[in-house]
Amino acid sequence: MFVFNEKYVSKKEGHYYSCPWIEHGLVFFQYKLTMCCYCGHEGGGHTLIRDNFVGQKIDWDKIFKVKDMFRRFHKKGKINKSCVGCPFLKEAKWDGEHYIDNLYLSHWTNCNSKCIYCYATKNPQEFKVDKLYNVLPYVKDMYEKGILRPGGIISFGGGEPTLLDEFEDLVTYFLDNYFWGLRVHTSGVKYSPALARAINEIRGYVVVSVDSGSRETFKKIKQIDCYDKVRDTIRKYALQTTFLGRYLVSAKFIIIPGVNDTIEEIENWMSANYDAGLYTTVLDIEENWYLANKDNIPPHIFDLIKYAQKRSKELNTNFELYERLQNLMLNEKNSVTLKK
Ligand code: SF4
Ligand code: SF4
Repeated sequence: MFVFNEKYVSKKEGHYYSCPWIEHGLVFFQYKLTMCCYCGHEGGGHTLIRDNFVGQKIDWDKIFKVKDMFRRFHKKGKINKSCVGCPFLKEAKWDGEHYIDNLYLSHWTNCNSKCIYCYATKNPQEFKVDKLYNVLPYVKDMYEKGILRPGGIISFGGGEPTLLDEFEDLVTYFLDNYFWGLRVHTSGVKYSPALARAINEIRGYVVVSVDSGSRETFKKIKQIDCYDKVRDTIRKYALQTTFLGRYLVSAKFIIIPGVNDTIEEIENWMSANYDAGLYTTVLDIEENWYLANKDNIPPHIFDLIKYAQKRSKELNTNFELYERLQNLMLNEKNSVTLKK
């Protein structure tokens, strides 16, 4: 379970390799509790705390015993297998205390969208489950015992979070108890008043994945006819923002080659965002296509990204590329420099 690697032996007094999730993180998945939700590296992540978890009583001391065990091994340069190669591992003087401040809630999967690129859409049998358990009782228990502290990140995932019966209550509980750093990726099909409050109070960050600049393209990608509804949700969230909060709402565009990879689509998407009062431009690219084509990306994909960057500058919006596109642009820059 733990493997020794010389590169993870810290030479600095009191330091060792760990991450904010091993130290103070907890993830509620459908059937398990883990340290984190990351999985894109060699070891595979989703570092397990407890398997077969479907809402049983949690002994918090046991959770912290697992974390202490990780700390002991990591201090000797023995890294949990699932963490090997993870970019979040870093050498630091960790506080070693027993509390949670990073939470990821992904305990139920269902969605009101059917994105053509989504794993859940392609494998509906794995995601069609009845609601198994509520997280709010655990959140309250942790908070009342002083285990859960504000200061970290509270993210929601696992399909469409706003469909959770307890979503409004969860967000309201966090806000009423002075938490901040709430992050929600949503389809935007359902408007959430609690989320609107989180934005209004500059304590929530919302990303709505639109992926299109027209109703027709939206329908092709999402396989539902809700473009206007989603645009309306975005407008309502944006209305909550003041100058300071105006970057807290974004409408993301995932480039899907062959489906929405045109300048016209990008331009319409950006104009609609700007008209709705958004000050962000967030781009990504479809993962499976990217993995299959990353060594041979067609030039027009670079042109699209550069066009969005140029327009973002003109509109004075914050320009953000997700990790895959950042790497792509970096590689392009490097190859141009090498050719020179
Ligand atoms: S996989 Fe990465 S983020 Fe997850 S617990 Fe291990 S080091 Fe931390
Ligand atoms: S909104 Fe998210 S979870 Fe829902 S179908 Fe699209 S990618 Fe999948």
